[in-house]
Amino acid sequence: MVLLQIRNLNVYYNTLIGKVKILNDLNLDVDYGDIVGVVGESGSGKSTLGYAIAKILPPNASMTGEILFEGVNLLNLDEKEMQKYRGTQIFMVFQNALNSLNPVKKVGFQLEEALKIKYQKMGKKVSEDEIYKEVIDVFKDLRLPDPEVIYERYPHQLSGGQIQRVIIAMALLLRPKLLIADEPTSAIDVTLQAQVVNLFKQINQEAKISIIFITHDISLAYAMSNRILVLYAGRIMEEGNTEEIIKDPMHPYTQGLIASIPKVSKSSGKLYSIPGLPPSFYTLPAGCKFHPRCPKVMPICKEKEPQEVHVNNRRVRCWLYE
Ligand code: SF4
Repeated sequence: MVLLQIRNLNVYYNTLIGKVKILNDLNLDVDYGDIVGVVGESGSGKSTLGYAIAKILPPNASMTGEILFEGVNLLNLDEKEMQKYRGTQIFMVFQNALNSLNPVKKVGFQLEEALKIKYQKMGKKVSEDEIYKEVIDVFKDLRLPDPEVIYERYPHQLSGGQIQRVIIAMALLLRPKLLIADEPTSAIDVTLQAQVVNLFKQINQEAKISIIFITHDISLAYAMSNRILVLYAGRIMEEGNTEEIIKDPMHPYTQGLIASIPKVSKSSGKLYSIPGLPPSFYTLPAGCKFHPRCPKVMPICKEKEPQEVHVNNRRVRCWLYE
């Protein structure tokens, strides 16, 4: 069953030098219980996609298309109506988690408040002690040291990794229908990343929470998601089942991302990286936006942009499959 349907979504930014298109005619379905990994280098538009769904784009942004959440087009909602969804039904974990917390309130108090609102909406009576215990238990799950002490701290008294885990704790406690996680493990020590990924998977399986997991790291998307969407220059380049994409990537950009994953068995030799840099949205090349970096480029690629085509179970945007 579909939780989220994105239809022909375009996102624009008005800038001093004109209107620039960041997301281009994007379509995506997210089912209940799905984990979709959104993968791409920085500047591909993947964070913009998360902000667009939560409707927290900067004031100079505009959108066209539809974002249907349980059939309701979020683009038609005003800010007051949107607040009913944001936080409790759609929750976003940001890369820079500090901005998500109130600097003058203790972190435990902020989580407590969020939980109380959730239970109020559910019409469920829960005691202060039960709420406190619930928060402390999630802190323990996230291996936050001295959870009772962290509870009493202000955000500025915590490290970046601790703040990130407090925000993840909020997501785990609120159990929204859709969790959008934007590079959620980037501020966390590598040894903890696997544990956080497992916690996300656990809440996904237990509570059927759908997750959009935004990352530049395709190996992390592989560990986390059941579907992968590869973005480049604001366009979907490939989308499909995670296992199938990792085993048999069709798009040359996906192939490059997978070839760039460090291999444990390769003790010598240089690590592959895709040549060149992602293009600026102000100066996108003609034709296929990936053509200046593509090892399989053909004459048509430089002139005409390929459309998305369906091949087997996959969506792919490349002239090799037209
Ligand atoms: Fe490469 Fe051409 Fe495919 Fe673009 S359309 S990815 S340039 S082969």
